[in-house]
Amino acid sequence: MTGAAVRTVLGDVAPEDLGVCDAHDHLFIRSAALPGQELDDAGAALSELRAFAALGGRAVVQWTPWGMGRRTEELPDLSRRTGVHLVAATGLHQAKHYDERVLERVYGGLSGLFVRELTGGPVRAGMIKVAGAYHRLDDHARHVLAAAAEAHHATDAPIGVHLEGGTAALDVLHLLCDTHGVPARRVILGHLHRFPDARIHRQAAETGCFLAFDGPSRTHHGTDWRLLDSLAALAEASHAGQLLLGGDTVTPAARSGADGPGMPFLLGGLRPRIERELGPDVASAIFIGNPARAFAAHWRRP
Ligand SMILES: [Zn+2]
Repeated sequence: MTGAAVRTVLGDVAPEDLGVCDAHDHLFIRSAALPGQELDDAGAALSELRAFAALGGRAVVQWTPWGMGRRTEELPDLSRRTGVHLVAATGLHQAKHYDERVLERVYGGLSGLFVRELTGGPVRAGMIKVAGAYHRLDDHARHVLAAAAEAHHATDAPIGVHLEGGTAALDVLHLLCDTHGVPARRVILGHLHRFPDARIHRQAAETGCFLAFDGPSRTHHGTDWRLLDSLAALAEASHAGQLLLGGDTVTPAARSGADGPGMPFLLGGLRPRIERELGPDVASAIFIGNPARAFAAHWRRP
């Protein structure tokens, strides 16, 4: 891993300096598909980060892609004020999250846009976030995943994938890795928590990719009780080194200062259970060692 670095909003840091990490979350997000549920309050973002830091949290990866109100330019200040490393994202979500005319302007030049945001300034992104469709890949997903692969080859950036309802994991891996040549260990599958199919989890893990699970929330209530079992099954199958966990807070109500449980629950609620049930080594891999490897890259400019 010599020379690899995690690209934060304050600059590149050595993977071993990243520390306890919430590997998938949001401080700011806005979607045309979810009016009235914006995360756009900088004061609330600051409080949530402070609550996470108070429990030993040292890094948060914001998976909000291009054009969804991610407010990347405000992240350095939040990072300085809380001491929490922040990683920003470029990339593109499903079409429904955008105004059609806005999407049209960038659609033909996505890989160039991603590369500019990963390597240009003033605040650089440290990952590419893309999305699949429900139990399949539609034309939009294929177009965006191809652009992400191209930007990965140009920069070595990791690719994080929103799996719709946790589905289509194997289709995503096939397209990114087999068709477009992205090494599986540079791919992070997100939202597996939402579709706890142990066989598919294991097949995905066998490729070598990272598997990101979401923390509990009202949206995930139906599958929350499967989280520990899912993690345990993968750890028992020798995949503990590929597991990640994030809070994925996407609405104001889900924050710790509102209905919760928010970012701090990962450390105050889940970590002690993971330590107890799966052992301190697995917990440390999930919160420290794995995110350091998943988000570190040998950054290059095209
Ligand atoms: Zn998310």
